[in-house]
Amino acid sequence: MIALQGISKRFGELQVLNDVDVDIAEGSVTALIGPSGSGKSTLLRCVNLLETPDAGTLTLGSETLTFTGTAPPISAVLRIRRQTGMVFQNFQLFPHRTVMENVMEGLVTVLRWPQAKARERAMTLLEKVGMAHKAAEWPATLSGGQQQRVAIARALAPSPRVLLCDEPTSALDPSLAAEVVQVLRLLAEEGMTMLMATHDLRLAAAISQQVVFLENGCIVESGAPRQIFFDPARAETQAFVTTLR
Ligand code: ATP
Ligand code: MG
Repeated sequence: MIALQGISKRFGELQVLNDVDVDIAEGSVTALIGPSGSGKSTLLRCVNLLETPDAGTLTLGSETLTFTGTAPPISAVLRIRRQTGMVFQNFQLFPHRTVMENVMEGLVTVLRWPQAKARERAMTLLEKVGMAHKAAEWPATLSGGQQQRVAIARALAPSPRVLLCDEPTSALDPSLAAEVVQVLRLLAEEGMTMLMATHDLRLAAAISQQVVFLENGCIVESGAPRQIFFDPARAETQAFVTTLR
């Protein structure tokens, strides 16, 4: 499981996250929603330690790290980061590597897997996301939905404990977004633990068990998707959700 307790982060004068608590059960999906600038991406980046929180505690499986305002030990950072995979809004594939090489990259360079073993793992994942037939292509020749599916395969390659997705469908037309939703739904059904920031109500409603609503760096409401989307406690949540429909 993943637990964030009392996570706070400021950039200069700006308090971007303020005492955030989130519990994510193993095998469950949590959707993070909220207005632009509310801190969703920052929260995701605090889980894989691309940002170091100023305060709070992060638990990822058997690793627990408490933040005290100083840089945590690099060994602990690497242990946490290796248990996470990240998918970005704009895919961020390596443009000068083929689809296959993109998925193999981390296995070969970071985990030092032999080429043949990495290739086999990459092919299994490309099959899972329906992209095996494009293994030899360059990213630029793929549609956005195809690129995102390759990016998901790449994020899954090192068998992370949690998949972090930052608006995985927002750069895509509805039909291409649907392809990506289908892949994420399959992963959710297989028991992948996920935390995703999204403005896509359809995605959140389709695969999450928990929705967390962030506003100005604070969690103002959380609960089951049906509750947050159709019967929220706060008028502000209702108003925000209506803008997403
Ligand atoms: P969006 O829906 O637009 O993606 P978000 O909820 O993901 O928004 P964040 O990207 O987490 O929001 O940003 C939260 C706030 O922190 C914003 O005001 C942003 O300008 C600020 N911010 C984010 N990263 C940095 C940084 N590295 N340095 C300074 N300010 C930052
Ligand atoms: Mg964001």
